[in-house]
Amino acid sequence: MKIIDVELIQFRLPVFSHGTKWGYGTDCEQQDGVQSITKIVTDEGVEGYASGGVHSYFYGAKSEEIEGLVKPLLVGQDPLDRGMLWEWMKGHRGFSEALVGNIDSALWDLAGRAAGQSVASLMGRVRTKAKAYASTAPNLGSPDVYAKLALESKERGYTAFKVHAYIYADPDTLEPSPGKPASPVADIEVCEAVRDAVGDSMTLMLDPWGVYSLQESIMVGRELERLDYYFFEHPMDERAVEPYRRLSGELDIPICGPELAAGMHYSRAEWVVQKATDIGRIDVNFGGLTACRRAVDMYESFGLACEMHVGGFGNAAILGSTTQETCEFFERGLLFPSDHPLGDYDVTPLYLKEPCDPMDGEGNVLLPQGDGLGFDFEWDYIGDNLV
Ligand SMILES: [Mg+2]
Repeated sequence: MKIIDVELIQFRLPVFSHGTKWGYGTDCEQQDGVQSITKIVTDEGVEGYASGGVHSYFYGAKSEEIEGLVKPLLVGQDPLDRGMLWEWMKGHRGFSEALVGNIDSALWDLAGRAAGQSVASLMGRVRTKAKAYASTAPNLGSPDVYAKLALESKERGYTAFKVHAYIYADPDTLEPSPGKPASPVADIEVCEAVRDAVGDSMTLMLDPWGVYSLQESIMVGRELERLDYYFFEHPMDERAVEPYRRLSGELDIPICGPELAAGMHYSRAEWVVQKATDIGRIDVNFGGLTACRRAVDMYESFGLACEMHVGGFGNAAILGSTTQETCEFFERGLLFPSDHPLGDYDVTPLYLKEPCDPMDGEGNVLLPQGDGLGFDFEWDYIGDNLV
């Protein structure tokens, strides 16, 4: 089998803008954004896809990257040599880790479609569902708003709930406050209100999105220990490792990360050796499924868990081929309260026939089982909205 073309399909997709950069206020408006599908075409008619852009968190390739970098490297090659192609892409200075991730994901999807199997099965499937946690949008409003969303999530069947509280926004006005990115005292009030609302049985986490100082992280972490939170994610800027090493040594609550550190599984191995975090983290934007597979296996070998960052079809394949002990949760969100304009998370995106993360009544995501990564695109919508 030979790759004969790589196409970039870009199409309009309505998304909601938010009142302020970080505001996520109630004044959001619908606008058109651009979603893209990278499509790898072979001489045997088998194709592979990766999706990215405004709907999902995942990187959407640019046309100049496809034309200038990807096609010269991939066209004429056997797509099943994806290990070799990954090495080529990783070693090419023009490829970002996110672009490697996009192309690697499409190659895995193609391999699954060629074999008539899901990527989770190709990797060695261990489960078809995974526990979900409800992951809130940030800057939702008062602690009461978070408490309401937590209760709604519990009623929906979620067994776990992760707070994104106030990030670069004033907790009272929700207006941007770029000079004061963190509001740790207000964040603790949110965490307290959530614990009071849902009681002891729900697993709770906090993700301050990297805005705390070391001292703020220690202060908040001790409060989270008092409130019996399960993990404390990405509290500080991840470009510095030493503050994380000190924080992890100081606190009992597990620190989860790094989420955004460059370097794929290689940098994550360094964080493990440094004892900088207690629970790992990665997603397919960092070198694709190939790098995630290696990262998750590395963490498992050290007796550590790895919480996959965000949902999506690629991460779902990693969850499906990894035990619950190592990858416990599927991150579902970001979620808004039911009375918010974005309150219905379960609407299927217009470009898909099926979402990647339907939930059962017991708080589990039913992982995609279709061939490849399990995409089932709504091609009519895509064709009618090409950019
Ligand atoms: Mg995070």
